[in-house]
Amino acid sequence: MRIETLSVFPEMFETVMATSILGRAREKGALEYLGHDLRSWTHDRHKTVDDEIYGGGPGQLMKPEPVFEALDDLLEDAPARVIIFTPQGKQFDQSLAKELASAERLIMVCGRYEGFDERVYTLADYLISLGDYVLTGGELAAMVVSDAICRLLPGVLGSELSHTDDSFSEGLLEYPQYTRPAEYRGMEVPEVLLSGNHAAIAEWRRKMSIIKTAKLRPDLLVACGVSTDEVLEMKNTQL
Ligand code: SAM
Repeated sequence: MRIETLSVFPEMFETVMATSILGRAREKGALEYLGHDLRSWTHDRHKTVDDEIYGGGPGQLMKPEPVFEALDDLLEDAPARVIIFTPQGKQFDQSLAKELASAERLIMVCGRYEGFDERVYTLADYLISLGDYVLTGGELAAMVVSDAICRLLPGVLGSELSHTDDSFSEGLLEYPQYTRPAEYRGMEVPEVLLSGNHAAIAEWRRKMSIIKTAKLRPDLLVACGVSTDEVLEMKNTQL
């Protein structure tokens, strides 16, 4: 897959896109990354990407021409799914990450200032928000989305199965996990995990996923089809 970003701060991506899983994915060839500077598609001496807002109001708005021209050029090479980040978009989640991970090429357009001239949004295949809060720019959103997508690409994580147990992958939160020592400050690792009994471990994990989800994110249970009976049955189990 190829991820491209279009931003007035392309340098923000350099470390993140070269570090840890993202960096390794690029080394392995599972991910190609290209950062574009939106100012390359301006025509004035000051490389202006913003302007005053019609009708008045505080701040500046990102002009349509650089974004339209950039996408004209970039889409000439090959088709791509275009993402524009805005707090008004669909909230990003694991199922959207999975959907985007199947793309050959993604172009992520990052806003600044008061966002984009409304006409720019017509260019988007996806309007994506990270959540109901306002960031100063779309670059961090693009990094978050790239990171979430990248770990779903085949061959990127150490084990092909690593992400299938993650929270949200089956609609539930991940079960509790432990590493050594088996006892720390009076807190013991549940015995079943030391038993070597894989069937019992799998059953315990499923139960704990449901209990943890019921406790921390009850809203998710309905969506993933866990019955009320199943939750009640486990209600008395200690986390
Ligand atoms: N005035 C805009 C509004 O109220 O919808 C907010 C503009 S924000 C200060 C500047 C840019 O940051 C946006 O164009 C977008 O690219 C990015 N941004 C801000 N909050 C975001 C969020 N929650 N999710 C994704 N991108 C966000």
